[in-house]
Amino acid sequence: MSVTIRNFINGELVQGRSGRTSPVFNPATGQQSASLGLASADDVRTAVGAARAAFPAWAATPPLRRARILNRFLRILEVRTDELAHAITAEHGKVVSDAKGEVQRGMEVVEFATGAPQLLKGEITENVGTRVDSHSLRQPLGVVAGITPFNFPAMVPMWMFPVALACGNAFILKPSERDPSASLILAKWLEEAGLPRGVFNVVHGDKEAVDALLTHPDVAAVSFVGSTPIARYIYETATRHGKRCQALGGAKNHMIVMPDADMDQAVDALMGAAYGSAGERCMAISVAVPIGETTAQRLIQKLAPKVRALNIGPGTDPDAEMGPLVTRQHLEKVCAYIDAGVAEGAELVVDGRDFKRQGYEDGYFIGGTLFDRVTTDMKIYREEIFGPVLAVARANSYDDAADMINQHEFGNGTAIFTRDGDAAREFAHQIQVGMVGINVPIPVPMAFHSFGGWKASLFGDHHMHGPEGIRFYTKLKTITTRWPTGIRAGAEFVMPTME
Ligand code: NAD
Repeated sequence: MSVTIRNFINGELVQGRSGRTSPVFNPATGQQSASLGLASADDVRTAVGAARAAFPAWAATPPLRRARILNRFLRILEVRTDELAHAITAEHGKVVSDAKGEVQRGMEVVEFATGAPQLLKGEITENVGTRVDSHSLRQPLGVVAGITPFNFPAMVPMWMFPVALACGNAFILKPSERDPSASLILAKWLEEAGLPRGVFNVVHGDKEAVDALLTHPDVAAVSFVGSTPIARYIYETATRHGKRCQALGGAKNHMIVMPDADMDQAVDALMGAAYGSAGERCMAISVAVPIGETTAQRLIQKLAPKVRALNIGPGTDPDAEMGPLVTRQHLEKVCAYIDAGVAEGAELVVDGRDFKRQGYEDGYFIGGTLFDRVTTDMKIYREEIFGPVLAVARANSYDDAADMINQHEFGNGTAIFTRDGDAAREFAHQIQVGMVGINVPIPVPMAFHSFGGWKASLFGDHHMHGPEGIRFYTKLKTITTRWPTGIRAGAEFVMPTME
């Protein structure tokens, strides 16, 4: 292992100068694949300086030309999806087909951002007063930063920077230190697409780098995606330093299964939503809520054999449905949650703790795990596990299930499976969650809508990408114009009313 991963600042790959390094592992083999040179606060200042210097020319570039660069970037992504997907799998562990899906969802945001000339169109009102016109336009903020989690090393950065760049901002990405390579591939391809130097920079680092971004006076806005305690910290620190901030946090997503649901469809949906990407998705379903004892029994009967039969292997195995977890520490944490569930009295229907994959004994593998009779006071119900552990929490009625969801700390995503339009409509309108699926288990909004949860799943006012992304990365200016007409009204000392 001799690979050292470096920062990308002002178009150059430069070694982080904190003096600290962080190992990067292949989760399927447990072998270290690279060492990440962590950025110091000085490195961050250099990156902000480069972005600040690049900003005026980029902001002055016509939106159509900015969009053309993003269009070229999109074409590169299309042709080289496989390369990026394999790089993701090598450090994250997810199966390659899932990694390709992540790239696809990121590309959709790039596609959306190529509409910048249309998206940035302002508004005009003729004659707000006699011979007075007003128009509003949106201008870029300046240097903006994105701090991203390990679980989508390409897609989550792409929720942010395509929109930020399309709007005319310069961007600094601080990716997860656990799977940093995807960010550098994206940087290289942006450069190849014609993005000027300094407009997009990558700093690898930990708290030191993040704090340097949060407190730097030239960083105008911070987008964050990660766990709730860090999201809260980022939001509070960034806003205290006068920055605009959107900080997306953790999740505990429930899926209600009504007695009239198509049970086979619901079970298939749960399998993908709970165990896909080994449960390391903020939109994973981690709690199934069947309504009534009969529904619960039918659900468990159909679910348990499928969980036992999950095909688990290295992400590069085309038959694998689920890969390993991201790190050994995370594997230990997920196992500790399963231990806690057993200790608290939940019924362990399928236990994944002893799973081993032949030939990959040092990989961070765990089997699919299923708990029944989980109650709302249990740690495995209250906290985000972020692993392939599905909790079945039985409810007597729809109202009890909806109360459970509404009382939970998190409000990222949720779903209901039913044939009853009335129940579905009630759920969609009343439930206190940001993203809702009706017979759709992972209701991740498309790029032209916006992504974001409620409650402890999001701090700030703006969701990501889509129209909310354009608003987040621009500031509004309204210009009121009167051309001299030869008529002199004289000085006016009252509040102008335009009458
Ligand atoms: P994390 O919070 O540990 O890390 C996220 C980022 O914050 C990383 O770049 C990391 O380097 C940085 N960071 C970590 N500790 C820090 C500290 N003390 N000070 C400053 N920065 C710090 O999250 P993770 O484990 O990488 O990702 C998983 C989490 O992300 C889960 O909770 C998941 O639900 C959440 N997530 C949420 C969404 C969403 O849209 N709401 C999407 C994806 C992931």
